[in-house]
Amino acid sequence: MTDHDRIPHAPLAGVLGWPVAHSRSPRLHRHWLHRYQIDGDYVPLPVAPENLEQVLRALPRMGFAGANVTIPHKEAVLKIADIVTDRASLIGAANTLIFRDDGKIHADNTDGYGFVTNLTQSAPHWHPESGAAAVIGAGGAARAVVASLLEAGVPELRISNRTKLRAEQIKAEFGAKIVVYDWAQAGNMLEGATTVVNATSMGMTGKPPLRVPLDALNRDALVTDLVYTPLITDFLKEAEQRGCEIVDGLGMLLHQAAPGFERWFGQRPEVDDALRDAVL
Ligand code: NAP
Repeated sequence: MTDHDRIPHAPLAGVLGWPVAHSRSPRLHRHWLHRYQIDGDYVPLPVAPENLEQVLRALPRMGFAGANVTIPHKEAVLKIADIVTDRASLIGAANTLIFRDDGKIHADNTDGYGFVTNLTQSAPHWHPESGAAAVIGAGGAARAVVASLLEAGVPELRISNRTKLRAEQIKAEFGAKIVVYDWAQAGNMLEGATTVVNATSMGMTGKPPLRVPLDALNRDALVTDLVYTPLITDFLKEAEQRGCEIVDGLGMLLHQAAPGFERWFGQRPEVDDALRDAVL
């Protein structure tokens, strides 16, 4: 792309999904744009899978500095992007794209960053290296959580998933610290774990509840849920009743958005209560 192709324009960004109307990202980024008085916009971009590549190639010519990517495009963009970060490639999905001045599409995954930053900000006493982590689920979000927990220094990472093969795949790709538990034994992996994560979609409004027994849960464990509708899931409620510190999943959504905003609009944004209120 040449300089002539770049339209002098207030920077634009958006979220590509199909459907995308449910996404909270426009509200989130517009809150920051307003707050930092940046002349730009962030829009929902409903794009069918068969049109993804064509749309991605056109967006930089329309003044877009980058985009977020959501279901069902998170894996497909890896094949279209010119540059894929190691972490996006290990996770097997990207959620943040940067359209570079040289015309190249750069793909990254900031979900793991959002996950860990949410925990460190919401629970400053949390020490990932203090004990085993237990992750329930082995989907795309779980892969980002696993990558970030290993990077944060957990000594052992236990994982259980309804479809065991997906958990075994994670063990094969992420290495020796991973221990796979049968789905029927998922409750057992909570024993002695100091970080416990629900990375399934169970417990989400309209979905069945998470049915992993919490009897073995240690009261010193930090418990978090990626589901944020409802904000406090039954899983988090029960963990809190058992004396555990809990962290809801909304903070992960807010923090994963910050690196993209900074790259597109040139301002490192703050995640605070005003942003939470705006998104809720
Ligand atoms: P995904 O790739 O579709 O994975 C879904 C996971 O849930 C899999 O582990 C799946 O198990 C499990 N699951 C679904 N229904 C189940 C059931 N009835 N019984 C047992 N397990 C079931 O989805 P994802 O992208 O990883 O997202 C997972 C959740 O995280 C979603 O609720 C999503 O909204 C949330 N999320 C939140 C954030 C945030 O910022 N807070 C970011 C990303 C995702 P199988 O493999 O056996 O199907």
